[in-house]
Amino acid sequence: MQEFDYEKLGFKCGLEIHQQLDTEKKLFCRCPAKLQGTREPDFTINRKMRPVLGEMGTYDKAMLTEYEKGMGITYEGYNDVVCTYELDDTPPFSCNSEARSVALQIAMLLNANIIEEMHVCRKNYLDGSVPSGFQRTMILGTDGYVTLESGKKIRIDILSLEEEAARKIKTENKTNFFRLDRLGIPLIEVTTKPDINTPDECRECAERIGLLLWSTNVKKVLGSIRQDVNVSIEAGTRIEIKGVQKLGWIPVLINHEISRQLGLLEIKKELEKRKLDEKDIPNEPFDLTDSLTKTKSNFIDKGIKSGKKLYGINFIGFKALFGKELMEDYRFGTEVSNKVKLISGLKGIIHSDEDLSKYNLADDDVKKIKEKLETKKEDCFVLVLGSMKEVNKAMDVIINRVKFAFKGVPPETRRALENGNTEFLRELHGGARLYPDTDSETIFNYEEEVNEIRKTLPEYPWITIKKYSKKYKTEERIIKDLIFTGRLNLFDNLIKLYPDNPSLVFTTLLETTTALRREGKNIENITDDDFFQIYTLLKQNEISKEAIEDLMSLKADSPELSIDHIKKKLKIESISVDDLKKLINEIIKNNLNLIKEKEMRAKGPLMGEVMKKVRGKIDGAVVSKELENSIIETLKEMK
Ligand SMILES: [Zn+2]
Repeated sequence: MQEFDYEKLGFKCGLEIHQQLDTEKKLFCRCPAKLQGTREPDFTINRKMRPVLGEMGTYDKAMLTEYEKGMGITYEGYNDVVCTYELDDTPPFSCNSEARSVALQIAMLLNANIIEEMHVCRKNYLDGSVPSGFQRTMILGTDGYVTLESGKKIRIDILSLEEEAARKIKTENKTNFFRLDRLGIPLIEVTTKPDINTPDECRECAERIGLLLWSTNVKKVLGSIRQDVNVSIEAGTRIEIKGVQKLGWIPVLINHEISRQLGLLEIKKELEKRKLDEKDIPNEPFDLTDSLTKTKSNFIDKGIKSGKKLYGINFIGFKALFGKELMEDYRFGTEVSNKVKLISGLKGIIHSDEDLSKYNLADDDVKKIKEKLETKKEDCFVLVLGSMKEVNKAMDVIINRVKFAFKGVPPETRRALENGNTEFLRELHGGARLYPDTDSETIFNYEEEVNEIRKTLPEYPWITIKKYSKKYKTEERIIKDLIFTGRLNLFDNLIKLYPDNPSLVFTTLLETTTALRREGKNIENITDDDFFQIYTLLKQNEISKEAIEDLMSLKADSPELSIDHIKKKLKIESISVDDLKKLINEIIKNNLNLIKEKEMRAKGPLMGEVMKKVRGKIDGAVVSKELENSIIETLKEMK
């Protein structure tokens, strides 16, 4: 991963963190705040989004982009967790006070000023994920801060309590499918000021805010926390990277984004050097359909025969610019192509900086294209194939994106990808999207109530981490992992029951669980109570620690079985220390020659033999100790 001189680049970064709260009910209706997983929906509703003129007589640019995608929307709901409020047919109920209490705790932990008189606002949502087209949100705290390990304070701009949007299930046949169970679950949004100056600082800040949120009553499952990162460098622009799912992605994503912006700035410089002008970019593409009726390229031929159009455009002096790498495995051509794909629905573009033989375009085809488009050596042509409507849309995108190359980096919201790259998601929303909600009354956070909640604040998680790490002699990372898997409470309970071996409890809750998950086991089937049962058996010497993984594995496969039942099924028996001694004596009697010859070095092979008989029935450490004692005794007798 390439790193940069962040100070010299004027790198600035801010975070926006979303976290679902773990309340019983939703924020503005009385439906249960419970995700339904893969359960089949009870009903579906189809809708379409349409742009309308704003009060200034213009369309919102981001809304037009959404509309141009021409997507339909299908909402899928459940009768028991969705009511007419989520469908925008009923006004909001009063605000959930359980959610407000948790939000107030978080605001205090973030040292924010509490807003005494909250006004519910509407925030426009254009992607269809909220049926009403807006999300209800209220600012609950402002001007807080979170302290990093170094003592540096990252200022918190705003803390809002709002509604979660519906969850997107899939896109099929130009229709986005949204599941409504998630819609309306209380959500906290924490926005920092752009005080973050390096990628590592960004990661730490996200981690600290995350830990802090997870020390309160929030949903502690994968995907309940989401990070957006705002990145800018002085010569570039502000880019919003959405959907950062893992803390570890943050530094890579940021460095790739810096690399992309620097690359785009280099293109801008190169265009100046080549004395090219935005005005020379053509506004209209050429129809090449008739010129390529005899092409060797199978997919173009097939496309044209099925009625598709092949359009081309020539960019004077653009040679090698579409091929310029902006981030790893991502060129300017990729950037244009991504945007075309998203907006027009086409599979992509073809450009002359690419190896055209991969499209089976013969030299003769290329010659014809170049003639028609008047492409010279120093130019670059771009082709698209699709229906008239798709092709027109795609060419619009291409022309506008190429024109922006003269300006530098277009402000965009981009989506984080697993490989550390990002792709265009939508234009950056213009300034204010907040409007007062005429359906809601003012909500008060009275001082008395706030003071009561102040008494319930949990300890700062980084203090907890240090304490635990010291007490149980383990790395801080382990404790962090316990918090981020939502298992710190469970750890507390297990260690109370079984204080002898904290490292075994860590291993069970972290490594063994991860290993089983990697094997494809459904770990969620093992409840806290199951873990408690397993450790009770261990405490009573009914199982050995070697049996823990087998019990967990089978419980993950058969959630309907009790741990006792599984123990019987696995034929897990325990062996008493006395019986173990008898067994060891037996084995020693049969191996006297070995002991005579090898003395203490006989322990290794004998250990193997004993374990063969008692594995899973008693702790290996006990076996080792007993075996060693017996060999020493035997050797004494031999002398
Ligand atoms: Zn409802």
